Amino acid sequence: MSETLTIDRLVFEVRRSPRRKTLGLTVDRGGELVLHAPDGSASDELVRWTKSKLLWVHRKLLSRAALAPQLAEPAFVSGENFTFLGRNYRLKLLRDAAAALEFDGTYFLLCVSARAEATKHFKAWYVRKGREWLSRRVQLLSRKVTATPSRVSVRDLGHRWGSCGKNGALYFNWRLLQMPTRVIDYVIVHELAHLREPHHAPAFWRILDGSLHDWRLRAEELKVKARDIYWCHDRMR
Ligand SMILES: [Zn+2]
Repeated sequence: MSETLTIDRLVFEVRRSPRRKTLGLTVDRGGELVLHAPDGSASDELVRWTKSKLLWVHRKLLSRAALAPQLAEPAFVSGENFTFLGRNYRLKLLRDAAAALEFDGTYFLLCVSARAEATKHFKAWYVRKGREWLSRRVQLLSRKVTATPSRVSVRDLGHRWGSCGKNGALYFNWRLLQMPTRVIDYVIVHELAHLREPHHAPAFWRILDGSLHDWRLRAEELKVKARDIYWCHDRMR
């Protein structure tokens, strides 16, 4: 087991070496924080010194997250942005945490030991959060469309944002929860409209025009945003 130091919820790996004369800090490519120390350094000295460098560490993590190209897959490093309802929230890796993944309203808090399965934990979180949020939102918008679903469900729909079942149930992709509300509203209204008209027939587009006048703008925004949001791909429709 390697020696670690946890300060301000950041985990530093301590690497001691007899060749080392001074303390040093590096942020490696994966965002791992490494504290290089001479062999005999006392731990309170490590803590004091590292605390004095925290501002630098936070800046470094932020610039790293900002510079990283937005790929379809996240790296799960501290400082990385994750999106919920169109807002960015930073990730913090925690050494000890009661839950694998939590959201405190400001940060996503991921337990280091759960990092290997982080995508799974994020997905479960979006499904759980999404179920409550979407149910309320669908209820609100169903008045505009004058259509009420038999139930609302959040799941993995692959490359689709939403779907309308034959039994009157509406299904939404958990990935959608990363989008801003106005964009999600378009998907909701689209699926609600399918309760009245199953096909993309002229009558369907008339329902959309009547329920959400700027739906074309929102549909365009959905397409654009999907390119730089995690787990979404530009082939999503
Ligand atoms: Zn459709």
